Amino acid sequence: MTSPLVIAIDGPSGSGKSSVSRAIASQLGLSYLDTGSMYRAMTWFFQNQGVDLDDPAAIESHAGDAVIKPSVDPANPGITVGTVDVSEPIRGDLVTSGVSRVSAVPRVRELLVELQRAIAKAATSGIVAEGRDIGLVVLPNADFKFFLTADESARASRRAAENGEEVSATQQHLASRDQADSTRKASPLVQAPDAIVIDTTNMTFDEVVDHILLLVRGA
Ligand code: C5P
Repeated sequence: MTSPLVIAIDGPSGSGKSSVSRAIASQLGLSYLDTGSMYRAMTWFFQNQGVDLDDPAAIESHAGDAVIKPSVDPANPGITVGTVDVSEPIRGDLVTSGVSRVSAVPRVRELLVELQRAIAKAATSGIVAEGRDIGLVVLPNADFKFFLTADESARASRRAAENGEEVSATQQHLASRDQADSTRKASPLVQAPDAIVIDTTNMTFDEVVDHILLLVRGA
């Protein structure tokens, strides 16, 4: 029996990795894990509990209380915290502006990485996992590692189109989140040395998906 296919897709916000990862998972019949949604869900949990996000000690001591469960169905992604479906609120400005502070806390990363590995292990038909540290930390033995990039302005335009927001404000928020994610001490956003880098600035969504499918199927 061959082992299940594991594909890691990393990259900064707006690189197109979420929609691309979902499409790849659907086309290959694999599970899909959006690890960014888990950091967002953890952030929602703390905000909902009234925990100060500028107090890493409080975050450290309560991180284990959050029961986070993402769906792994690419046709029906979503996530719950306890019994609450937080799929929508985690995309709002409040969570987006707090998530880099929560994801920088080592205990949060330790707990979520452990959960992500358990989910990948349980995905017996294989998985596409996307995030910032998948190829380097979460699933270093992935069969394929891709790192999606795009110019900051292209990423901002895509995000703004998705959220119906203004491009220049979105670009500023993206830049500050990128800066926080790349300079934090615990697992900063770094490209795995063995990842295949795809610059999506001048590529359509279909071109990116086809390119990845060709590489995976042709191997
Ligand atoms: O991908 P998304 O923009 O939803 O991720 C939200 C935030 O979660 C990122 O800005 C980053 O702080 C954090 N994150 C992370 N590690 C991952 C995925 C996301 O630190 N694997």
